[in-house]
Amino acid sequence: MSAPAIDARTAHADGVERLLASYRALPAGAPVRLAKPTSNLFRSRAKTITPGLDTSGLTDVIEVDPVARTADVAGMCTYEDIVAATLPFGLAPLVVPQLKTITLGGAVTGLGIESTSFRSGMPHESVRELDILTGGGELVTASATRHPGFYRGFPNSYGTLGYAVRLRIELETAPPFVELRHVRFHALADLVTAMERIVETGRFDGARVDYLDGVVFSADESYLCLGAQTAEPGPVSDYTRQRIYYRSIQHDDGVKTDRLTIHDYLWRWDADWFWCSEAFGAQHPVVRRLWPRRHRRSSSYAALMRLERRFDIGDRLEKLHGRPPRERVIQDIEVPIGRSAEFLEWFLATVPIEPIWLCPLRLRDDAGWPLYPIPPRETYVNVGFWSTVPVGATDGATNRLIEQRVSELDGHKSLYSDAFYPRDEFDRLYGGDEYRALKQRYDPDSRLLDLYAKAVQRR
Ligand SMILES: Cc1cc2nc3c(=O)[nH]c(=O)nc-3n(C[C@H](O)[C@H](O)[C@H](O)COP(=O)(O)OP(=O)(O)OC[C@H]3O[C@@H](n4cnc5c(N)ncnc54)[C@H](O)[C@@H]3O)c2cc1C
Repeated sequence: MSAPAIDARTAHADGVERLLASYRALPAGAPVRLAKPTSNLFRSRAKTITPGLDTSGLTDVIEVDPVARTADVAGMCTYEDIVAATLPFGLAPLVVPQLKTITLGGAVTGLGIESTSFRSGMPHESVRELDILTGGGELVTASATRHPGFYRGFPNSYGTLGYAVRLRIELETAPPFVELRHVRFHALADLVTAMERIVETGRFDGARVDYLDGVVFSADESYLCLGAQTAEPGPVSDYTRQRIYYRSIQHDDGVKTDRLTIHDYLWRWDADWFWCSEAFGAQHPVVRRLWPRRHRRSSSYAALMRLERRFDIGDRLEKLHGRPPRERVIQDIEVPIGRSAEFLEWFLATVPIEPIWLCPLRLRDDAGWPLYPIPPRETYVNVGFWSTVPVGATDGATNRLIEQRVSELDGHKSLYSDAFYPRDEFDRLYGGDEYRALKQRYDPDSRLLDLYAKAVQRR
């Protein structure tokens, strides 16, 4: 091991010690929670007065091993920092979630998806092993062979069984550039057919596809965005300045090409938080010029959004205009690819939100993940929509409608945002029996919240 790697391991060991000390300092039986400077969670949470665990020493990449193509990473390290540490070796995590401040521990316990997911599944599938501080205060190393039930049940547990402290993840080669082809479709069924063929063959029009996602602007304007890794130098676009990535995709017909550095490709959605920066005026040419470039990133918009929520600015403005308050519909769902056109057509006719993000997904691990039981090696399409609609007759009316439609189509919904499922349905969808057994074993005194309490009851 090199000297810097030894230093990093020592620093990590100190960080773990501080975490354990902060756990021990809690009054016996007191609830345990994280103190973390960033979050991409969209559920509102009940306030708590207990001090959070000290995660300050758990934010770094510990070591990149370019030969084994793995990285040891602390649980609260952001993907922005992971990518900064791995790209100099020409390597990247197999799935890099689109928002820079998502942490590795957060993406593994709360799931993640990106344009490599059609070939690499979800971030937790490339975790070789992880150290977890359990609710009961033990430090446990879990892998496919050590504490295998915990390893399998940790993804989608949202920090209710324990906290990932260190994770060893696989890396893949990431050449310096990405060639893009944005393919226009005039009918959703045609887009889905093309997506299915690309997932099966890894090619489009004879050329390799390494990255695949898509955007729906309306029923007759949708795109697949195909990326191919390349080391060939050439001019590249930059969407961190005046131009806006999602607008660059749009064209009348056929295929539009573009090129980005791998760094800018991985963060292409972060600069405008997909398209959500529009709500803050950041896409207006004048505002954009004045908006400091370093703040053209999802974490800045998220901070503004938290302020907006705190002071209820949106609903006050609606009231001023004589309009009803609005319901937040910020969700990512997955449906089998064969039902995806049906879902999209229903969604566009029912929920006034667009654009919509699409991302195909295929889990590659046959042993399965009980708390988010998508069958392996079958293609699903992740559909992301992040906006508001006028409130309905009941609390969460539109969200409930979506939950029902997703279940009818044999889909799944991720739990980072509001959920309304009754307890029995939630148990059926999210591995209730396996979860209870793990909770009993790794958090016997319920120092951590229960998943239903956290995801549905907003505790
Ligand atoms: C608008 C929006 C868009 C999103 N888009 C994407 C996307 O495009 N791609 C994608 O992959 N994901 C996306 N996500 C989901 C995101 O990956 C998850 O919400 C993830 O859990 C966030 O990680 P975080 O590090 O920000 O964790 P936080 O938001 O801080 O925490 C999320 C949950 O994980 C727990 N947690 C955090 N760290 C740990 C740890 N080390 N060990 C155990 N538990 C922990 C927390 O207690 C909490 O319950 C999106 C979320 C939102 C709100």
